Amino acid sequence: MADPRKFILQLPADRRPARISLPEVLIPDIDWFNARRAVKRRYDPVMGIEGIVVHATAGSTSGGALQHWRTESPASAHWIVPAEREQTHGQSIIACVYEARAANHTKDRVSNPAVNRGRANVDHWTLGIEIVNRQDLDQYTDPYSDWQIAMAAQIVRYCWAKYPNLKWVFSHASIDPGNRADPGRQFPWDGFCQQVLHDPPQAPRFALFDAQPEAGEMDDPSRSPCCA
Ligand SMILES: [Zn+2]
Repeated sequence: MADPRKFILQLPADRRPARISLPEVLIPDIDWFNARRAVKRRYDPVMGIEGIVVHATAGSTSGGALQHWRTESPASAHWIVPAEREQTHGQSIIACVYEARAANHTKDRVSNPAVNRGRANVDHWTLGIEIVNRQDLDQYTDPYSDWQIAMAAQIVRYCWAKYPNLKWVFSHASIDPGNRADPGRQFPWDGFCQQVLHDPPQAPRFALFDAQPEAGEMDDPSRSPCCA
């Protein structure tokens, strides 16, 4: 199995995908959560996004991770990808922190010279993805599902299309190897990178809205647009 400290992908500028939307649901207390588990970014919330950090929760469910973040450790991430044992698996990911705000998913002082020239304060120039996985690293009884890997890759493609300066995708272990091993050596990094770098074989399930105006709607001279 691969070494999660080496899970680093630099996105090639000439392969930037087309925009898509994400199948996400919001946590019910997203405003409370953003006020207490996220902070204002130090950089521009669009042009300042340069990376994505891939994590694993070290737990069994999305609800368990959220409960832990709400009550025990004031951590957070932008999205959670549910596990197979959860109802939302196969349907939707969970949005916890607004992309415009910095989630609390890495330590300010950690960095890696191979990632964005060793830039620290990673939370402020990244988005964080947490994938639900028990992280029982020695027993390896909780493999990632194909859908989890596909969704994590889809989140990266969504962000890559949306944020012009996004270039780095890397593991938590790569920037904090002394304290973190996630997403773990059982995470299929090579297959994940393949899905990030190549268009999915089927059309995206969550395409952008592309409806045309109804006939006559735009050429009726008696109607004036509300903002004219
Ligand atoms: Zn982590």
